[in-house]
Parts: sequence; structure tokens; C-alpha cells
Amino acid sequence: MHRKIIAPSVLAASLLLVIPASAADFTPGAPGIGDPYYPASGNGGYDVSHYDLRLTYQPKTDLLEGTATLLATTQQDLSRFNLDFGLAVSEVRVNGTKASFAKSGSHELEVTPAAPLPKGRAITVVVKYAGKPFELKVDGWTAWQRTPDGGVAAQEPDSAVWWFPSNDHPLDKATYDVTVKVPDGTQTVSNGVLQSQSSKLGWTTYHWRSNKPQASYLTTLAVGKFDITTDKTASGLPILNAYSKDLGDNDGAARASVERTKDVAEWLESVFGSYPFNALGGYVPNVPTHFALETQTRPFYSPAQFAGGANVSVVVHELAHQWYGDSVSVKGWKDIWDNEGFASYAQWLWSEKEGEGTAQELADWVYAQHPADDPFWKVKPGDPGPDDQFDGAVYDRGALAIQALRNTVGDASFFKILKGWPAEHAYGNAAVGDFVKYAEKVSGKPLAELFDTWLYQPSKPSASAATKAKVAPRAGLAASPSAPSAAPVEPKSWKKITESHAAHGGH
Ligand SMILES: [Zn+2]
Repeated sequence: MHRKIIAPSVLAASLLLVIPASAADFTPGAPGIGDPYYPASGNGGYDVSHYDLRLTYQPKTDLLEGTATLLATTQQDLSRFNLDFGLAVSEVRVNGTKASFAKSGSHELEVTPAAPLPKGRAITVVVKYAGKPFELKVDGWTAWQRTPDGGVAAQEPDSAVWWFPSNDHPLDKATYDVTVKVPDGTQTVSNGVLQSQSSKLGWTTYHWRSNKPQASYLTTLAVGKFDITTDKTASGLPILNAYSKDLGDNDGAARASVERTKDVAEWLESVFGSYPFNALGGYVPNVPTHFALETQTRPFYSPAQFAGGANVSVVVHELAHQWYGDSVSVKGWKDIWDNEGFASYAQWLWSEKEGEGTAQELADWVYAQHPADDPFWKVKPGDPGPDDQFDGAVYDRGALAIQALRNTVGDASFFKILKGWPAEHAYGNAAVGDFVKYAEKVSGKPLAELFDTWLYQPSKPSASAATKAKVAPRAGLAASPSAPSAAPVEPKSWKKITESHAAHGGH
């Protein structure tokens, strides 16, 4: 009896619960994540936690076929959402059901699920696609490099668009499984640990796993013929390095540099704290470019980095990024100093340790090298603008600012800051302003003016500011006509440090 009486109200209540919000409440996700430097980068309305990429690549033709499975959570009531992707898509499914899709903008894929997606829901998106990445031009340019024996994806600020659909911005990091099938006799390189490798019917399949949050631009893929070396660190981390078999005259210097990965990482741990990822390594494909990139767990090095002989300094730079850039990533691309200032300063510290010039000598040198009217000082490392994001000043002036900080707070606080920051924001994102606040907290000193002078003013810090920060105190002496010339001598490490300056900015 009772059941019959209460049933209608129970029914009414449950109906209320399942009635969806009106269609008007579901809106499209934004086509960009909100980064003023690159308005089309990333997307709004969802957050990806994992990418499963299953790829087949033909080195002869550059044909890449793929199925990407993305695990994500919606962050708003979504009527549709965007992915950043350029290759031709044949099918998209959301939660197993076919979705409609359309291309828009230069690299947007608009996905409209069969039913709108409520906020806070775990969703699975499967995208099937195929194409030749090298032929894909976005704004007239391709990030994908072809080599005589394959192809390479390693670029900043974006490369994912050429080989997998993503939420292409460092704010949305995720873990990765990358499985690549290539013809027997060809190798693949990607991030993290090589979980398995097996051959069947003329094809070899490699499965790579990166088990810590990773930005899309730090996700890399190389296919080609490589010599691979493996090792383990003292703590048991697997090391895997790969060298293209046709590096020619650069082969020895490349190996003499990248094989130093283990001891460089060990030294970096003493400065920055525990290494944050599940694998170490580096790779040198036979590309014609000149830059290197801190692709997570396994930096990319162009052979040209070693044309002048071994360059351990560039290995120091890219491995330093594993803490400063990869584990702690930019919030927006304007925060690039958080990455490049510290990776460059790590090279200065390495120089100091190797007896090839102290960080102070390098700072004096940089300060003296650029007269006040040099456009070098127009670049503000704290917010350089997209056109100057990878300007040399972001690196050199950026490192100079860090020496000014060191002299202001003293070595004890300084090294505490260097080690504390990667732990404070491990696997996350941070802005330049967050670093300033952190340095103030650790040192107990007000630092806003110091950083304003060295990171944000579009002019050369005055001799008095330089003297105050104990950077280039001799510049003050040189200004006196009676003083002997006190121009700093070029530190021995400077050449290698500048050689690694093409570190980024392939475009
Ligand atoms: Zn760098």
C-alpha cells in the first residue's frame, strides 16, 4: 500500500534529477585556452588526463596512420569542444558513440558529440586519422622534420598538431602511452620507458610510457635508423640514448656529449633536487636543424649542436629543463623565463664547477657585452612577447637576472630557492610572479624592485643597479677615466654556451 502511495513522488524526484539542463546551458568550449601569446593554442571546457596513441608510420612515404584515445574530464556543460589537430580525420567517437566533426581555423578540430556533455563528467574521445605530417602546413610552416630514414616531431611551442590531436598547451598536462608500428629494421624514440618491442610480419611495434604529467609540446616522436645505448642510474632509472646511424663527422662529438647524461643528471640532482621522471636519455636524429629541445625524459639534439666538437653544456641546459620547464611548466608562454633563465643559469653553474668561468664572471661578461643602446636590452625576459619569446636575451639577460638574485639573497638562500622551487610546483605550472613571491618567502627579502629592474625594464640596468646587485661592479670602475680598462675577459665556457643558444626557436 505504502509503496503505491509514495511511488509518484519518488518518480517525480528521480525525474527531476535526470532532466538535463536546458540545451541553452550547454555551450561550445573555447577554441583557445586563453594564452594571449597564442590565442588558438589549447582549448576550453575540458582537461585531458591521458593520451593513448596507436600509430603506424611508413618512413618511405611519411604516411602516418593513427588512433588517439583521450581520457578527459569536462569543465563546463559542453555542446561541443575543440581539439588542436591538423591531419585528416576519418572518425571521432565520444564515449563510444560517433560524433560529428569539422575543421576550423588553422588547426582546430571541432567535435560535436551526439549528446551534450555535462560538466564534471569523465569522457573518452577516440580520433582516427591519417596523413603525411611533413605536407601539413600551419601558417605556411611545418614542425615535422623529415630525415633520410624517417621523421621527427620536436618543436616549441607546438608540434603535436602534426601528429596527434590534443589540448595543445602546457596548462593541460597528461600521461602518455605511445605505441608505434614501423617496418622491421627501423627504430622509434619517444618519451619515458620503452615498455616493449615486438616484431610480426615485417613490422616492429614499440610501446613507450611516460607516467608523469607531460605537456603536449614536450611529447616527442622520432622514427629512423638509430644506434641505441642503454644504462641505469645509481637509483635504477633506465637511461636510453639514440643516435642516428648517419651522423657523419658529428657522430663522435654527439656521443661524447649525450653519453654524459647520467653524470650531468646526477650533478643537477645535487642542485635542483630529485630527478622528477621515470627515465633519462637523449637522442640525435639526422635532421638539418640547429636547435635542441627539452622533450620530457629524452631531449632532442640536432647534430649541428656538435659540429664544433662535444658540447656537454647543451646537455646540461636540456636536462636542467626537466626540473625547470618540464616538471614545473609555464602557466602562459609569457613565463618562458621560468624555463630558459634557469636552464641557461644551470650552464653557468656547470661552467663554475668545471673551472671554465664562474657564474659571476659570465654575468660580468654578459653585462659588459651589450652597450645600453643594444636592442638586447629592449627584450623583457619576464614578458618578452611572442616574437621575442626565444630571443637570446631571454637566455642571457634571463641568467644575468638570476645572478643578480644570487648576489642579493646570498648563496645559502639562493641554493635553497633553486632546490625548493621544483618541489614546490612539481608536475604543475607557475608564472614568473610566482617565482618572485617564492624567492621572497625563502629569502625573507623584498625582491620586486630587483626583478623589475632585471626582468621587466626595456633598458640596460644602470651601473648603480649593477653595482648594487654586484653584477659587473667593474663597469663602474671603467666609467672613471683614470681607471684602467677593466673589461671582463671572455670566460672559457662562453663559446659552448652561445653554441647552444640556437637551443629553441626553429620558427
Ligand atoms: Zn632551453
